[in-house]
Amino acid sequence: MKPEEQAFVKKIEGLEENNLLRQYFTSERLQGAYVNINCKKLISFGCNDYFGLSNHPEIIEAAIKATKKYGAGAGASRLITGNNPLYSALEKEISKVKNTEDAAVFGSGYLANIGVISSLADREDLIISDKLVHACIIDGAKLSGAKFLRFNHNEPSSLESILKKNRKKYKKCLIITETIFSMDGDVAPLKAIKKLADEYKAFLVVDDAHSIDFTKKCEKGIIYIGTFSKALGSYGGYVAASKSIIKYIKTASRSIMFSTALPPAVLAANLKALEIARDKKLTEKVLRNAEIFTDKLGLKKAESAIVPVIVKTNEKALKISLELQKVGFYVPAIRPPTVPVGTSRLRFSFSAIHKEQDIVKSALLLKALI
Ligand SMILES: *Cc1c(COP(=O)(O)O)cnc(C)c1O
Repeated sequence: MKPEEQAFVKKIEGLEENNLLRQYFTSERLQGAYVNINCKKLISFGCNDYFGLSNHPEIIEAAIKATKKYGAGAGASRLITGNNPLYSALEKEISKVKNTEDAAVFGSGYLANIGVISSLADREDLIISDKLVHACIIDGAKLSGAKFLRFNHNEPSSLESILKKNRKKYKKCLIITETIFSMDGDVAPLKAIKKLADEYKAFLVVDDAHSIDFTKKCEKGIIYIGTFSKALGSYGGYVAASKSIIKYIKTASRSIMFSTALPPAVLAANLKALEIARDKKLTEKVLRNAEIFTDKLGLKKAESAIVPVIVKTNEKALKISLELQKVGFYVPAIRPPTVPVGTSRLRFSFSAIHKEQDIVKSALLLKALI
């Protein structure tokens, strides 16, 4: 080992002591909600595949067909090699779903967030986000060089006081929040936030990554960022907004310009997934499954596919996750910096493909462990 590497060894030891070391493990996703971990078949509550579309036969077929026709890879970035014809079809579809004039597809939701945010704001601007937004929004804000402030989670009054005090000092202003929060599963008060954005002449950017409703009419005048990697079951990200914003993003956003285009199979899978995901029954089934769980545990009624069970300490979260694994369930332990210190949790993600008896069983087992 180079002596300089000692610094990292020390860091790793520190993380280990605090139950914060991240360890990657092998898991093989199987049909249904099953996953194979350490040669053991478990029911997984650790997946954002809310509709079970990653294993949908028609989507797999569409991906195979596109691979046979166009090959496994895109060859270069979209600007260099040109757009595969599936790109314009997908961008048209996503703008239709989001009720916007246009859309741009990115390599992933992470790339969409860092690319969009850093191209829409610069040093003279102000970005205000909810305190609990996803890491990629924070990274995008940092990349932009704009002044970055955060308001209390889901509190429009906190946003308003920041706007009142700071808006005038900056040129543009971006307000950023999530429709459904990724680690809490709660829903943002979008109407009140949009009202403030309009009042203070700010852009409202909303990360809709955990959306499970592809039929809902989206609010006009919002810049939507999302992903194809969760309910839509495959991979990739997007931004949907007005024509001029999309035109600007496509010529200014570095993460779309300087990264290789998505493989044709992924574009075809996403197109097919958007078609299937417009079935309202899928949305209802996911919510019903999440509600079965919150009912059994006496928790606040689920508002989305995500239900956190907060146990506070890292140690307890890890221990319960391991205990659940022993009895046949995979539920990830979520720790800082993904969530604030002292709010470590088990994060349950529900899918339309979970069975009622499995959800009930997991709830009863969990009850005995917390
Ligand atoms: C998962 C997630 C992303 C990142 O999307 P990927 O497609 O996985 O890169 C962005 N924002 C939020 C809120 C997320 O939960």
